[in-house]
This record gives sequence, C-alpha cells and structure tokens, in this order.
Amino acid sequence: MPRTLTRRVSLPLYVTRFTCIGAACEDTCCGGWTVEVDKATFQAYRKVTTGPLAEGFRRHLQLAKGLKKADHSWGRFEQDVDAGTCKFLDEGMCSIQNHMGEDALCDTCYGYPRSTLEMGGEFIQSLTLSCPEAARLALLAEDAFELVEADIQTRNACIASASSYQGLSYQHMGDVRFFSFGILRTKQLAIWQRLAVLGLFCDSLTRLLGAGEGAQTGALVRQFEGVIERGKVIEALEPMTANYASQACLFAPMVRMGSRQSRSERQNSIQRAIGTGLGFDLQTWDVDEQTLISCYARGLDRLKEVLADIPHFFEHYLINDLVRDPFPFSSNTPMEDYLQLVSRYGIVRVMLAGRCAGDENAKVNDLVETIQFFSRRFQHDPQFAAQVYASLQSLGAASIDKLYGFLRN
Ligand code: SF4
Repeated sequence: MPRTLTRRVSLPLYVTRFTCIGAACEDTCCGGWTVEVDKATFQAYRKVTTGPLAEGFRRHLQLAKGLKKADHSWGRFEQDVDAGTCKFLDEGMCSIQNHMGEDALCDTCYGYPRSTLEMGGEFIQSLTLSCPEAARLALLAEDAFELVEADIQTRNACIASASSYQGLSYQHMGDVRFFSFGILRTKQLAIWQRLAVLGLFCDSLTRLLGAGEGAQTGALVRQFEGVIERGKVIEALEPMTANYASQACLFAPMVRMGSRQSRSERQNSIQRAIGTGLGFDLQTWDVDEQTLISCYARGLDRLKEVLADIPHFFEHYLINDLVRDPFPFSSNTPMEDYLQLVSRYGIVRVMLAGRCAGDENAKVNDLVETIQFFSRRFQHDPQFAAQVYASLQSLGAASIDKLYGFLRN
C-alpha cells in the first residue's frame, strides 16, 4: 500500500476548516468522473480475495487499456451508468474507505479534494472547488484566504512539483506568484481592473523572459507596485468600456459545449438552469445573438445584487485558481497562463449571469453551486481548456489591448 508522509505546508484558512460531509454531500467525489487507480493500489486490491469487497474488486476494478500504462493510472473503477458514480459508492459513502480505512484508498481518492503544490522546497495546499463543501468554505468566508502553516499527512503521489521556469530562480518565481496574489487582493481596484493589471504584468514578464532578462523580474515587480500605489492604474483604465456582446458571444458557446449529457442528473439540471437563463433552446442548444446578449446583460445586473454582501466572491475564486497551479508558470509563457485564467473567469461569469437571469430569486448558494458545477465538469478537462484557448485566440482576444472589453463589466 502507498505510504503517507508528513509535510509542513502553507495553506489558506478555509483548507484547515474542511471536513468531508460524507453522506450529507449533495454531490460525491466521484460524480460524473471515472476514477483512475495507481499501480500499487491496483495490485493490492487484486490480492483481496475474501471479505465484503472481494467480489467488487474482481468485477469492477479494470486494468487500463494499452500496453504502456502509467503507474498513476494503472487501472480504473467501473462506473454505475445510472447513478454516474463509482461502483464502490454505497449510500453516499465510499465502501472501500468504510471497510479498509483511508490508507487503503488509491492516490486519486486519498488526495481528493486536496491539491498540494511544491515549488523549490516550499509547499502550498488548496482544495478543488469541484467539492461542494470546499467551494462553500473558499468562496463565502471573508477570511478564507488568510495563509497559515500546518503539518499535513499526504503522499508523494499527491504532490505536484513545479519545475524551474525559463531559467528563473525559485526565489524569483515565488516573488512573481506572491505579487500576482497581491494584485488579485488589491481591494481599491475592481475585479476587472485587477485582472487587467495582472494581464499587463504577465505580458511584460513574458517579454522580459523572451529577451533572456529573467534577472530583472524583481525590478518589474517593483515597477508595477509603484504604478498601483500611485493610483495610475485606475486613471489609465477608466476610458475602457465594457463589451457585453463580445463577452456573451465569446464565452456562451462554451456553455453549449457543456450541454453534452452527463450521467449525473444534478449536473444536467444545473446546466439546464444556466442554459435557460441565457435564452438557449434546450433541445437544440441554439440561441440567437440578441437574445443571448440581453439575457447576459440582465443576468450581470442581477449578479451584482446577489453578490452585494460578498464582494470577495470572484476574488476568492481567482485566488484559488492561482494557488492550485503554479501560475503563471504552467504554460509556455506567463501570458498564455494568464489567458487561460481569464478564459475560465469569462466562462464562469457567463454561467453565473445565466443562473441569475433565469431565476430572479437566485441566491448566493446557487452561485456557489454553479462554480462547483463548472469545476467538476470543466476545470479538470484538458480538452475543454484547449478549446477555450483556441476560441479566444481565433476571435483576436488574446492581445492585452483587446482583452479589456472582455474583462470590464
Ligand atoms: S465531494 Fe467533498 S464533501 Fe462531497 S463526499 Fe467528496 S470530499 Fe466529501
């Protein structure tokens, strides 16, 4: 069986508050997903020949296809086609954990919903918002992202390590990440302004690295700190106008992309609520442009009202995104990483607007549920991310000057 180890990590306060709510959860860890099983766990399960799980392991634990199997995805659990969950789920609880204990879980299930990132010997842990309880804790509490330190139990296989990036030292990488968090937490700027500044910063960093001047990263950070402090940003961004038509038309097709039937009835129902709000015909998943734009604009107005009491909602969503991955160092360039972040933000905003446009009584909990739905359905789907990025580029929105119209609302 895989071994656990203890690590000293930084983590946002909300992670320390997390406890799985088990059978009371409105979703399940494995809802709509096929769970991959690592090699060591797969072989251990195959050795179980007696007891309540033996028959299940024989029938529902499958070897991955292909000759070249990776150790982390050696096998998988069969899904219950009707329920859209793992065959080992029993009345909302995992029967493997019940009978064999947490240490016997495969790496995928042991780690979920936690995500631990290591960069130059420093560890930071967050939770994926595809878990409903994690989404509530991260998005709603004002102090959710105060950072603390703690010893945690984990496994090596549950830690993602960020490698050194284009010759930058880990110190420089850490400084860039710290500054990026700081931009997203700059309360005197609206969310769209924070994203605009982050875009300018990532654009400048991309040019700096392209010119082989990574050693100047510290100077770039200080330059941007000065610009923000002097209030020049608000002045410079003021003339930018919102372009609702572009926002709706760019990101709504991604909503349609998600209309592929899921096996989870809960996911399908949230998808339908979003589609209805945005004016989609739920049979064909078509919508005419004018209807879409007016539904989107109405939804955004309502969204502002619902979020009046929790102004940190989008900030927390974005910061969680930054903490989980080695932003802005997980793509070819910092700018590419930034565009991926902005794409996810744009889609989430369209989905939230759809939810609000379709239900005038929409509450904060409906918005949390929508973010959780997005995270479960799309965030872990690399194909979806690639399609979104391609759309953004094909529409000419991938340059920083054109992005402002997409960001402002
Ligand atoms: S999704 Fe989250 S709260 Fe629900 S069962 Fe899994 S870990 Fe627990």
